[in-house]
Amino acid sequence: MSFVEGLSCRECGRMYPISAYNACEFCFGPLEVTYDYEAIKKVISRESIEAGPQTIWRYSDLLPTKATPNLDLGTGYTPLLRADHLASELGLRNLYIKDDTRNPTGSFKDRVVSVALSKARELGLKVAACPSTGNLANSVAAHAARAGMEAYIFVPANLEHNKIAMSAIFGGNLIAVDGNYDQVNRLCAELAMIHDNWAFVNVNVRPYYAEGSKTLAFEVVEQLGWQLPDHVVVPIASGSQLTKIHKGFNELATLGLSEENHVRISGAQALGCSPVAQAFLSNADYITPVKPDTIAKSLAIGNPADGWYALETIRKTGGGAAAVSDEELLEGIRLLAKTEGVFAETAGGVTIASLVKLVSSGVIKPDETVVAYITGNGLKTIEALGDKVGPTTTISPNIDSFEEFLHR
Ligand SMILES: *Cc1c(COP(=O)(O)O)cnc(C)c1O
Ligand SMILES: [Zn+2]
Repeated sequence: MSFVEGLSCRECGRMYPISAYNACEFCFGPLEVTYDYEAIKKVISRESIEAGPQTIWRYSDLLPTKATPNLDLGTGYTPLLRADHLASELGLRNLYIKDDTRNPTGSFKDRVVSVALSKARELGLKVAACPSTGNLANSVAAHAARAGMEAYIFVPANLEHNKIAMSAIFGGNLIAVDGNYDQVNRLCAELAMIHDNWAFVNVNVRPYYAEGSKTLAFEVVEQLGWQLPDHVVVPIASGSQLTKIHKGFNELATLGLSEENHVRISGAQALGCSPVAQAFLSNADYITPVKPDTIAKSLAIGNPADGWYALETIRKTGGGAAAVSDEELLEGIRLLAKTEGVFAETAGGVTIASLVKLVSSGVIKPDETVVAYITGNGLKTIEALGDKVGPTTTISPNIDSFEEFLHR
């Protein structure tokens, strides 16, 4: 059962039938999945959701697939951790960490990929493909293996070795491209026109892919006892996740599953690739593309496809934006690890360092209930830590040597 009405153009509102297509033929605006909320309202309830599987598929009434069966590696329903130590460090009263380091391939991308490839299978597409900064490659490779689909995955050749290995192991075709992500992305947009029966998860099936991010909003609200948070901090690469978290909160309110949506949404970027944050901070009404230069590779999209919509969402919800240096994001990784026991990748460091900035600049208020989205696992970017981490001391293998350290 699916409650999808079709695809609608975000710019001119024209409707399109469900297909592997992502842009309006008239105005080139991005297409977006629309639902029959009246029909959903009749079948959905807090209880029906709570009785579902402990994965993103507990929200299948609000996802664009027919669920027969969906592609499932156990993605989603990740912990929402109360972060009291970090909160008191920052002077906040109610802080939570949405711990998406725990997904099957270690990042939030499993949410969008399970939805995109479930839909691709339903549409009869047999090849999975994507341009990726690393995490998407990892997730598409795993899900394609699981689905028995062929895979063509395109990544910048300078990606961390770890991330290459984590995708290559799943056996699809991993194509290293001599260029940065924006060039890889452009190549895939061109390839998607030639190979239009392939599912480029974030290109021609992007409308379905994007819907997966709504589950980040659904889960937080359910895990807060069906209460909306006051303020969330979301990392931005293409900006899709941020806009869909907003759509997710809106849908719960529309369906009467939560109170009205007044959640403030703030964006987090690395200074070396911060086109959305810079546009917000300089009050610009357009996004200026940049050439990425940051260790936060999973967020390094210099020309973000949904950047404008992310900026609009931040503004209309009364949120803010922060851009943090590589030094600050590494400190963010350390701070989260030592206060809460969660090891995040560089994108998570960006979120925490941005949280710190947004609190100290007064954008986030001390009494707000705040959720920080930690979207990737630290094991993915160990290389970024360099020699910043190591043993506290080195001793000789005898008691005296240790006691000397202990009483130093
Ligand atoms: C891709 C990614 C994001 C952001 O995704 P967009 O929807 O493109 O903004 C955030 N965190 C991590 C770890 C990612 O891999
Ligand atoms: Zn249009």
